[in-house]
Amino acid sequence: TQGLLQGKRGLIMGLANDKSIAWGIAQVCHAQGAELAFTYQGEMMGKRVKPLAEQVSSDMLIPCDVTDEGSIDAAFDAVARKWGKIDFLVHAIAFSDKNELRGRYVDTSFANFQLTMNVSVYSFTAVAQRAEKMMDDGGSMLTLTYYGAEKVLPHYNVMGVAKGALEVSVRYMAMDLGPRNIRVNALSAGPIRTLAASGIGDFRYILKWNQLNAPLRRNVTQHDVGKSALYLLSDLSSGVTGEVHHVDAGYNIIGMKAEDAPDI
Ligand code: NAD
Repeated sequence: TQGLLQGKRGLIMGLANDKSIAWGIAQVCHAQGAELAFTYQGEMMGKRVKPLAEQVSSDMLIPCDVTDEGSIDAAFDAVARKWGKIDFLVHAIAFSDKNELRGRYVDTSFANFQLTMNVSVYSFTAVAQRAEKMMDDGGSMLTLTYYGAEKVLPHYNVMGVAKGALEVSVRYMAMDLGPRNIRVNALSAGPIRTLAASGIGDFRYILKWNQLNAPLRRNVTQHDVGKSALYLLSDLSSGVTGEVHHVDAGYNIIGMKAEDAPDI
């Protein structure tokens, strides 16, 4: 049988290690026949992601720091030189100072507010500008968000504000790029233990709370997110754009603690 991404080429940004959500997405895309390129943040990460890229038959590993526009241009130039066009783009990038992912949001500094918004919101728009030029036959762009955009969660703070802005930017870009048959969507993933998540204060408590109270009574995995990404990146979702799709074991629908959940 043919894979759902057979003959498609995709750029995945935000692979740090084998716990990354980007890795869950990459594995599913590879299994469905996609050809993949990756960007990584810096030399330290480069060593760790090389063997992962090899596992999914990719030899396109490009450094890209999204705080540097020159670095973004260089990365897209490298992909353009090799492939000319791409069919999909995955943006799995966010950052905030972990000292501000605890305590009160109201105490957030200007410097960290700017950095968080730059890396976690603007970077998706910045890469979409470059990717658009490589999607003459249409395409699919995907970013990752979290429920902290919609509701106040402990410690998520400035990252919640950033995810709110990211979700709105998904809708504006969906409108801008729709006439070119480029779809723009987000997956709102439940909490998963990753490098980025380890910066969030009391993350273990959030994981436990979700596991005990989500309708499916479990946490989601990188593989769960990968499979939902496959839907949004492939032709299966040809009529879907501007959407924020929850992959959270149903957690976002609940209004109260589950009756069977023990105290934690
Ligand atoms: P991760 O640490 O594996 O990935 C985060 C990535 O962001 C890393 O690859 C890191 O190198 C990259 N990054 C940070 N600053 C960068 C910069 N200046 N330039 C380029 N890259 C930069 O963690 P993850 O949890 O897989 O995060 C991926 C996405 O998923 C993030 O947007 C995160 O907010 C989102 N998300 C995570 C969870 C969770 O619980 N883990 C839940 C919902 C959404």
